[in-house]
Amino acid sequence: MTPEQRALEFDAADPLARYRAHFTLPEGVVYLDGNSLGALPKATPAALARVVEQEWGEGLIRSWNSAGWFEAARRIGSKIAPLIGAAPNEVVACDTVSVNLFKLIAAALAMRPGRKVILSEPGNFPTDIYMVQGLERQGLATRRLAPREEITAALDDDVALLMLTHAHYKTGELFDMAALTEAAHAAGAFVLWDLSHSTGALPVDLNGVGADFATGCGYKYLNGGPGAPAFAYVAERHHADLEQPLTGWFGHARPFAFSDDYEAAPGIEQMQCGTSPILGLTALEVGVDLIAEIGIGRLHGKSQALSEFFLECLMALDVQLDLISPPASGARGSHISFRHPDAYAICQALIARGVIGDFRDPDVLRLGFAPAYLRFADIAAAARHLADVLESGEWQRDEFSQRAAVT
Ligand SMILES: *Cc1c(COP(=O)(O)O)cnc(C)c1O
Repeated sequence: MTPEQRALEFDAADPLARYRAHFTLPEGVVYLDGNSLGALPKATPAALARVVEQEWGEGLIRSWNSAGWFEAARRIGSKIAPLIGAAPNEVVACDTVSVNLFKLIAAALAMRPGRKVILSEPGNFPTDIYMVQGLERQGLATRRLAPREEITAALDDDVALLMLTHAHYKTGELFDMAALTEAAHAAGAFVLWDLSHSTGALPVDLNGVGADFATGCGYKYLNGGPGAPAFAYVAERHHADLEQPLTGWFGHARPFAFSDDYEAAPGIEQMQCGTSPILGLTALEVGVDLIAEIGIGRLHGKSQALSEFFLECLMALDVQLDLISPPASGARGSHISFRHPDAYAICQALIARGVIGDFRDPDVLRLGFAPAYLRFADIAAAARHLADVLESGEWQRDEFSQRAAVT
């Protein structure tokens, strides 16, 4: 059987096949970048139009009360919670991942007086490391980076916080959240998990592993749209002692008392800073509702099946590429990456054929398998295009080596 024939059989038996119709995907495009910007849910434009035209246009400021705007950040947080193994009162949708990292790192430092080290790994997503550097420049933190095999050994009694990304943005390799959380706690440190490449693609059990803090992205597998709000998680046991440094009025216990003195809200609301971005939250809620409806267990199963099938297709088509992701689907998130000196040009040649993946500097071709809307037929087509691009040398055309600003 050809890969295309096998794909037809898998698609016919796929219990999630009908969800593709809930997304807008252009004709002739195989979208393998849902790990970077999730596809548009078909319900999003109407939801945005309703909020703009009725709630904003007609309701005006009354909509803060009458249309549920004031509670939106909490409401959406409580819908994200079951996707990450959190209780509904432990998650709030707010700010970006970068800003949430700042707030959570600073909060952890305040709760561990005498300790300043933030431990992470080299090659973690840049913003995660940069945010530590910002706190370092203010004299509040000391950055320490240890390769993943040496992280446990680097957990000494100077470490306030272990900060790691669950699924690595390049390789997709997963950390053992339970083991590392336990190791951090044994060393007297807190742990902060960045779930940007996990949320909406694979199950996470923050409460099960006893995590302290987490944040994650709204525009990747949650399909919240470009620049969608992120989310922040703080375990309930820390709510009373939390000292979040961006003490804006939306984190106040009574924002509309207009007091001169800050008093943190008692619960997860205190992670908020300024006014909620209602348009962004509206689009995020549509994506979260859809992902929750499909179910994280089923999404994970399909994500694994899609990437396994892709590797199988490459074998069948005799494509030799240097896989830098873990070969076992259980050890990786929902994307896989290959190293090639001309990864950029290969990626551009694929995009010209309608197969949209991405390139990560300096030599990584990254392909994401968003389980909510991809068909097995898309996977077979992508593998066939990749085989053709490599075999024909088509990627060597001049036009494919011109770098754009966003890769
Ligand atoms: C996508 C991603 C981010 C994004 O951060 P923003 O501030 O929301 O742009 C952060 N960390 C990781 C690991 C990511 O993959």
